[in-house]
Amino acid sequence: MTERDDVLTAKLRGFGTTIFAEMSALAVETGAINLGQGFPDTDGPGEVLDTAVAAIRDGHNQYPPGPGIADLRCAVAEHQRRFYGLDLDPDRQVVITAGATEAIAGALLGMLDAGDEVVVFEPMYDSYAASIALADATAVPVLLAPDDDGTFVYDSNELRTAIGARTKILLLNTPHNPTGKVFGRAELEEIAALAIEHDLIVVTDEVYEHLTFDGNEHIPIATLPGMFERTLTISSGGKTFRTTGWKIGWMSGPDALVAAARTAKQFLTFVNGAPFQPAIAAGLRLGDDYFAELAGSLQTARDHLVDGLRGAGFTTYVPEATYFVTVDVRAVAAASGAPDTGLDFCRDLPHRCGVVAVPDEVFYARPEHGRHLVRFACCKQLDVIDAAAERLRGAFAAEVPA
Ligand code: PMP
Ligand code: GLN
Repeated sequence: MTERDDVLTAKLRGFGTTIFAEMSALAVETGAINLGQGFPDTDGPGEVLDTAVAAIRDGHNQYPPGPGIADLRCAVAEHQRRFYGLDLDPDRQVVITAGATEAIAGALLGMLDAGDEVVVFEPMYDSYAASIALADATAVPVLLAPDDDGTFVYDSNELRTAIGARTKILLLNTPHNPTGKVFGRAELEEIAALAIEHDLIVVTDEVYEHLTFDGNEHIPIATLPGMFERTLTISSGGKTFRTTGWKIGWMSGPDALVAAARTAKQFLTFVNGAPFQPAIAAGLRLGDDYFAELAGSLQTARDHLVDGLRGAGFTTYVPEATYFVTVDVRAVAAASGAPDTGLDFCRDLPHRCGVVAVPDEVFYARPEHGRHLVRFACCKQLDVIDAAAERLRGAFAAEVPA
């Protein structure tokens, strides 16, 4: 076959290789500390790991049922009732997916027609734009930007005007990657009122639901009055049980939304992860102390990273949740001569001081809004975070005026 440069579908031109793959490869190549891609560097709870090992030994190694094994679907329903008071029928209202990523793709491919619009807060997790593009639909972004206190907020007028005649879905992510924002009740009520007024479907990605700090409460928008019937809720075990490589996720909601997303999902992977499904069910049934300790230890890690980044001179936005801390690199770049746009800053950083981060720019539909922002992951052991902080301080602190 002759060399062709038109092989990739036009829908995916411009998507290239994900930033996570690029930056993790750079970390391996340079031997740098990887605070880029969000994956923990310690294993999850023993009960969860042991259940998976036993499941392999017990022969759970063939295709699981299409919607996922009944025990995990029941565990998801129990979890939604226990933490949020939501009642779900595990047979019709819960489907297990190959991570949240497949649930998002299934929801968007299963519900969108060409020309439909999706209102989505930016920055946004990178798979959203790709799945919307694959569905031949259009993402209409609404900016989250730091206010004077460094809290990421949106402008209500921008949200209102983003919703138009073609809007079918409002895509929400709370707690939010990469900003670490937890949408508050008043914000969710405003979003819910607009969804009801314009008869929108809300798809909500809640993979960081258990990783909130400082008493911030995660509120699923499906719990607000009038919202369950129009909301598809997505989550996954990767973050909660430190098993990001297992890719066990789920979606839940009213029959019609779950059925539409499941119809697309079944032609993506059909099913996945047979022995990991009972293990994640065991995880979802762990006691309250597990979930509290998880958030508490991550909050300590966040504090180490925030202190380290501030000590190096970065303008640092303290996250209310998630694995991530976002900084503005401009002051550090100006003082040190490092590149002042996030992408170049991140490509230079491992060579400069042996640390890998991720540029927020790739999470924006309008990249100019995120050009100076960079994301560091705090889901690492404290000595790893401290070592990275030391390197950053060594490279930059002396340069930045206090
Ligand atoms: N949504 C968000 C906001 C994420 O940060 C991630 C990355 N873990 C995903 C979805 C993908 O989750 P999973 O690994 O379960 O596919
Ligand atoms: N969710 C993780 C992050 O935001 C990793 C996702 C991925 O590698 N695709 O870093």
